[in-house]
Amino acid sequence: MANLSALNQFKDRYALHKRAPTLVMKFGGTSVGTAQAMHQVALIVEEARPQWPQLVVIVSALAGVTNLLLESAQGAVRGEVQDCASTETRLRQVHYAIADELVADSQRRAVVKSEIDGFVSDFLNLCRAVGVLGEASPRALDALASLGERMSVRLMAAVLQEHGLAAQAVDASSLIVTDDHFQDAHPDFLATAQQSTRVLQPLFDQGAIPVVTGFMAATPEGVVTTLGRGGSDYSAGILGAVLQADDVWIWTDVDGVLTADPRAVPEARTISELTYREIAELAYYGAKVLHPKTIRPVIETGVGLRICNTFNPAHPGTRLVEKRELSGRQIVRAVTAVRNQRLVTIEGRGMLGVPGVAARAFGAVASTGTSVPLITQASSEQSICFAVPDSASHRVLIALEQTFAVELEQRDIDRIWISAEVVILTVVGLGMIHTPGVAGKIFTLLGDNGVNVIAIAQGSSEVSISLVVLESDADRGLRAIHTLTLAGG
Ligand code: ADP
Ligand code: ASP
Ligand code: MG
Repeated sequence: MANLSALNQFKDRYALHKRAPTLVMKFGGTSVGTAQAMHQVALIVEEARPQWPQLVVIVSALAGVTNLLLESAQGAVRGEVQDCASTETRLRQVHYAIADELVADSQRRAVVKSEIDGFVSDFLNLCRAVGVLGEASPRALDALASLGERMSVRLMAAVLQEHGLAAQAVDASSLIVTDDHFQDAHPDFLATAQQSTRVLQPLFDQGAIPVVTGFMAATPEGVVTTLGRGGSDYSAGILGAVLQADDVWIWTDVDGVLTADPRAVPEARTISELTYREIAELAYYGAKVLHPKTIRPVIETGVGLRICNTFNPAHPGTRLVEKRELSGRQIVRAVTAVRNQRLVTIEGRGMLGVPGVAARAFGAVASTGTSVPLITQASSEQSICFAVPDSASHRVLIALEQTFAVELEQRDIDRIWISAEVVILTVVGLGMIHTPGVAGKIFTLLGDNGVNVIAIAQGSSEVSISLVVLESDADRGLRAIHTLTLAGG
């Protein structure tokens, strides 16, 4: 993220400083998924408002809407255009239902409903277009997927206005400037700082609260892009950084970052303080509670970060910190699981000492657009082993077989094979790697619970250890290791 340093230079040169306390709050899909949830959001914004004269509210699409939009587009590609019609009805229903319940002012309600209608007809047109073409380009998918946020911000702004707040919906296509890497676009921080200040500062000066689309951005030419699934958190990190906010608060449906995903481990507890390195590792290894890209912009620009629960706002949630005192009782902090993975192994005695095999292997994987969450090191050079998502494993195998066709023919490589479905369990905690006995305890627990460890890798930042286990062992393994977070490591 080299251009973050450009942002810091820009700040120094133009003294891009906040004029008043600034807070960015992001509300995820479930936080705005029902009328009751949206009402709750309005109460939170209302309460924060007096302390934060410059307040930005970022909103995701209503829960399930992004999936619905993307699935309908895929359906249209397959010629199932009737799906688009049922999605059209559903989109109108879910948004109208909230407007009917929460927007009492009839004129305001009519305006917001006609705005929703406009986006719903954009959806139908785009769906028909991809249906006719028989293909959906990443660019078309971004135009479609961003409609969810474009509808939710208008609804949220209307609800906040009902609460007497001067809210104004803003499409982040006018704030966040990215490259044209559709579906996973990279921001240009300097251009974003300039655009965001130009658009948002006048709103702050008028006393308005911008209600900004998460997930969505645009190229310098104004073509809509998105920041990747779950990317509304990243939108908050980006805007927090460029606005030099004091704090970014990520509001979600659990009490902050927990010791494990509460859906898999019901006894998981909130971690009140977590370092940036720990959360980075957790987010990278599957803790969906925060998009991993969110962290870097806030760290590098010194913005505070907190994760809290929309449905339990009195709970302090998790505060992210630069450093924390290491105490013996807090070594193992959390456990995560990345599911639906397979291990790819390239084996052959003829690989011994041949330079460039690994580079070619990972080149082949990269050519399929697949990223590798974990590489395990064998003690010899006779095999290379790494994980890829199940959905990409077939593509990866074909690419590797093509790349190493000659070596396979000559038996320098004996075989390239793919394992059964596996899960990567990652144990996270600062100081864990250097604390004697922690790894031993993990393996003992797994052994005692009959969980076989297929591969091991140490996280890049020495804050984590990852273990690959069979899908059928994963939940048992997760719960077993999780006891270490409760016992204090
Ligand atoms: P939002 O819609 O607010 O962005 P997400 O569904 O993306 O919310 O993320 C919140 C979910 O992340 C939680 O409901 C929880 O199931 C899941 N999750 C996974 N790991 C963790 C963890 N370690 N701590 C808290 N939540 C987690
Ligand atoms: N609505 C987008 C998604 O579902 C972005 C987000 O929720 O963060 O991926
Ligand atoms: Mg999310």
